[in-house]
Amino acid sequence: LGPDDGVLVADGLTKRFGGLTAVDDLSFAVEEGEILGFIGPNGAGKSTTFNCITGRYPPTEGRVYYRGEEVTGAESYDMVKAGLARTFQEFRPFSDRTVLRNIQTALVPDELFSTSGLRGETRQQAIELCERVGLGDDLYRTPSELPHAGMLRLELGRAMATDPDLILVDEPFAGLAEAEVKQLSALLEELRGAGTTLVVVDHNMRGLLSLIDRAVVINFGAKIAEGTPEEIRADPEVQEAYLGG
Ligand code: ADP
Ligand code: MG
Repeated sequence: LGPDDGVLVADGLTKRFGGLTAVDDLSFAVEEGEILGFIGPNGAGKSTTFNCITGRYPPTEGRVYYRGEEVTGAESYDMVKAGLARTFQEFRPFSDRTVLRNIQTALVPDELFSTSGLRGETRQQAIELCERVGLGDDLYRTPSELPHAGMLRLELGRAMATDPDLILVDEPFAGLAEAEVKQLSALLEELRGAGTTLVVVDHNMRGLLSLIDRAVVINFGAKIAEGTPEEIRADPEVQEAYLGG
């Protein structure tokens, strides 16, 4: 794949940790405006793929392109500046700060926070962002007081604070009840409706197939299937990965 095959393109992406190949010659492209499912069993290499794309780890081999430019090994900070945000599976909000302050912190770095004039404006922006992700009633709670679904909303709000064009969402549905999956799906749909491209990770397809336009399925770091939800469901290799040995 090449730089112009999608808004975000991974070409032959490989990540080794010593003898373990966590991501194995993986190529896929994300189309502008879509919700792409990125599916694979636990340990398949989904988070590592995100880590290689967003500058957390340099890939061992392969290339990453974003908006037509090569960004292989770019710094996290530069990816965010270019419009690519992510959520973390194991996120660590500032536990001693309120929801509102956590979002404000994502909007404005600490060193600028106390600058006079900035406070009121970002506060309003942060309140609006909290409302957008459904935390309007939780502004003054600390993260630990939120239910699990609320933590996910906070993490999504934190990612949105950088005003991204594309968000990589890592396992938002793990541990959620069905009703919460529906609510969070609705929020992701809304984001996409507002023009944000989304890549949504899950370790199974159940909660995801009604949300996504397309999916890439990986196992042992390598792509085993790609296509529409119907194609994915019917794919023998996918069925093998989930039902077989
Ligand atoms: P997934 O997100 O699909 O559940 P991961 O990408 O987290 O899978 O992990 C893929 C494989 O890489 C696993 O075997 C995991 O133990 C290994 N791995 C991930 N990160 C590291 C790391 N920093 N050092 C060593 N091994 C790692
Ligand atoms: Mg993971």
